[in-house]
Amino acid sequence: MAITAEQVAQETPAQRKRRARSIAKALARALPDATCALHFSNPLELLIATILSAQCTDERVNQVTPALFRKFPTARHYAQARRSELEKYIQSTGFYRNKAKAIQECCRVLDEQYGGEVPRDIDALVKLPGVGRKTANVVLGTAYGIPSGIVVDTHVARITRRLGLTEAKQPDRIEQDLMELLPQSEWIDFAHRLIHHGRRTCTARRPKCDECVLLRWCPRLGVESSSTSRSTAKIAPKAAKRSPAR
Ligand code: SF4
Repeated sequence: MAITAEQVAQETPAQRKRRARSIAKALARALPDATCALHFSNPLELLIATILSAQCTDERVNQVTPALFRKFPTARHYAQARRSELEKYIQSTGFYRNKAKAIQECCRVLDEQYGGEVPRDIDALVKLPGVGRKTANVVLGTAYGIPSGIVVDTHVARITRRLGLTEAKQPDRIEQDLMELLPQSEWIDFAHRLIHHGRRTCTARRPKCDECVLLRWCPRLGVESSSTSRSTAKIAPKAAKRSPAR
């Protein structure tokens, strides 16, 4: 039997942690091999692909990156390119002028300060032009295997709120809540699996709750009850007690 919104609202921090870990385990059983859908062969390529993926599907990004990566194999190639030429390669990903500017400014810093390498440090990464925490976590987790945080994209934000693991709206706050609930060793895979789960099952519209492996632990907060007999649950979960600053 699935947990109710009322039960989630009364959970203690320890109970919420146990539920979060059960969810992570169920996702691991269902989606053991889920990983980043962007194609890349080195950290720079993943960084560029992640910048391009803003407001764009991974499929679209994967269509433009083979030619892009051939034409611009290093950070210096991007930094020294004519802006209009770079724009031509990435036009179909949308917002291409902003993206081309961000890529060039980011690659200029990588070339001048890091010898063209992508730093393995989140504090250095988030200082790069066009790189926020989400992009930094994607690159560190996926290219380097460093669990610097939890990637919070639109799928992770939507599903973790439905699950009552957070009530925050800002990605940084959601990430903090999730980091307190899960061991660091889970951070990278948990986000990959949730993103896949969000594409296949817990979709923005009409989530397939009847076939969801997480139903038992999910109060379905904010989900209209169209596919199951359960009533609509819109009770906000009680925030898990925050631990002292890390
Ligand atoms: S599909 Fe339904 S049961 Fe599964 S996580 Fe999403 S809201 Fe919860």
